[in-house]
Amino acid sequence: MTALDDRMGTEPGAQPGRRAPAPGDLAIVQAFVNTGDVEAGIDRLGDPLRAATWMARHGLVAPRSDLDDGSVRRLIEVREALRALLLASTGEPLDPSATDVLNGAAAEAHLLVGFEVDGTSWLEPAAGGVDGAIGLMLGIVFASMTAGTWSRLKACVEDSCRRAFYDRSKNRSGVWCSMRVCGNRAKTRAYRRRHAGGLSA
Ligand SMILES: [Zn+2]
Repeated sequence: MTALDDRMGTEPGAQPGRRAPAPGDLAIVQAFVNTGDVEAGIDRLGDPLRAATWMARHGLVAPRSDLDDGSVRRLIEVREALRALLLASTGEPLDPSATDVLNGAAAEAHLLVGFEVDGTSWLEPAAGGVDGAIGLMLGIVFASMTAGTWSRLKACVEDSCRRAFYDRSKNRSGVWCSMRVCGNRAKTRAYRRRHAGGLSA
């Protein structure tokens, strides 16, 4: 197995560092964030057709939905705001513009709370289309924050990576998607810095 295989996983949908994906619906949010792969230069939401295909495959919009450039822009903006939140889960400071984006998207989705006669409740978007799809994902984020699973979903701190991974470690201290790849890169850089410092001293 190569280092790249280890980061990307060898199976379709496999997780970096051979980690298990986030549980339940949260896996959709994780997959959504990972539609943009910084390192590979791949964006599965990069144009209306690709975005519609990905969203339909994940049950977020109807098959053969017609998306426009504005929808693609909104999806990518929300995706990167979510990535900023995931990066903050590693202890990095949160970019305040991320919450502005998410609050705006939640308002556009018209997220509603409803109650059923069996004593259960739900949180769902009243909006349809892309705004509704974004609302569904924001509802999943809300439920995950309430359930206490959100803080385990993180973005890799390696600048060139930033992939979303689910940290199942006991002490929730993971900051790299893969210790073998991104963790080693950081350690190698730190070693080189120390070594260079030693030579110039
Ligand atoms: Zn990484």
